[in-house]
Amino acid sequence: MSLLVVGSVAFDAIETPFGRVERTVGGAATYFSLAASFLTRVNLVGVVGKDFTNEHEQVFRGRTVDLAGLERAEGKTFFWSGKYHDNLNDRTTLATDLNVFAEFRPKLPDSFRKSGYIFLANIDPTLQRSVLDQVAGKPKLVALDTMNYWIEGTPAELRKTLKQTQILMINDSETRQLSNEHNLLRAAKAIFKMGPKTLVIKRGEHGAMMVHGDSVFCVPAYPLDEIHDPTGAGDSFAGGFMGYLASAGKVNANSLRLAMVYGSVLGSFAVERFGLERLLKLKRSEITNRVRHFHKLTTFKL
Ligand code: AMP
Repeated sequence: MSLLVVGSVAFDAIETPFGRVERTVGGAATYFSLAASFLTRVNLVGVVGKDFTNEHEQVFRGRTVDLAGLERAEGKTFFWSGKYHDNLNDRTTLATDLNVFAEFRPKLPDSFRKSGYIFLANIDPTLQRSVLDQVAGKPKLVALDTMNYWIEGTPAELRKTLKQTQILMINDSETRQLSNEHNLLRAAKAIFKMGPKTLVIKRGEHGAMMVHGDSVFCVPAYPLDEIHDPTGAGDSFAGGFMGYLASAGKVNANSLRLAMVYGSVLGSFAVERFGLERLLKLKRSEITNRVRHFHKLTTFKL
């Protein structure tokens, strides 16, 4: 079943202890789409400026990413710049230039209106909801990402959007901030009252934790001996997670667990090189091998 994503398509400037890039194609919807396209068809909704050329668009070529919903507006593409600290966990945002993103009003092409699986990447909750309003019928699954900026700045709008969401995918500090609970299990219970019935907490090098009803499932971060750039890890995780669910065509306790593994695997590839570099070279067989290795890493006999 097809998977729709709405979110940023960007130029990023990234600095990590291993090097820097001045201007590379990034954005949450870009990482998500590339990761998910290994598993299913993706309908991308976003906006770029006139400076986003055919050459930049090449990152999507030859993949099952439909760009009919990628608007080309007058002005410059969204620009984000960040610098990672030595521990690679913390980063300082140096610039967020919204540019054409400031006036962005997502418009779904008719061919996207029947998408069964929807991922609302981190943007204004009002815009996230406007995407849901344009979908025909009731989608099979809606997942949402957000950040402290919206949790603090537009809490009422976020609450309205959460009511229409089944899965919330955020990090641990956002979980605590949204729920006003420090303990993550108590936080999940508080968040379930807001709408979502599944909470996926992304915990960087500590992996990810899913709370689904009364059940809890944890995956580690895949152990890597080289990490060059954590940018896009969360969005690639979401792409692997939603891509797997859309390809499986069913959402149940086991498919959700497998989705966690696919999320972790795609996130692990994304961080191996700068920007999109590793995802652009990735092969489907490498994903399958890493999923198998994940299984070995996490099973034991009782
Ligand atoms: P992540 O490392 O998963 O947080 O994702 C980083 C990506 O998100 C980068 O490629 C940025 O272009 C994009 N990004 C950063 N800040 C924002 C924002 N405020 N809104 C939308 N996208 C953003």
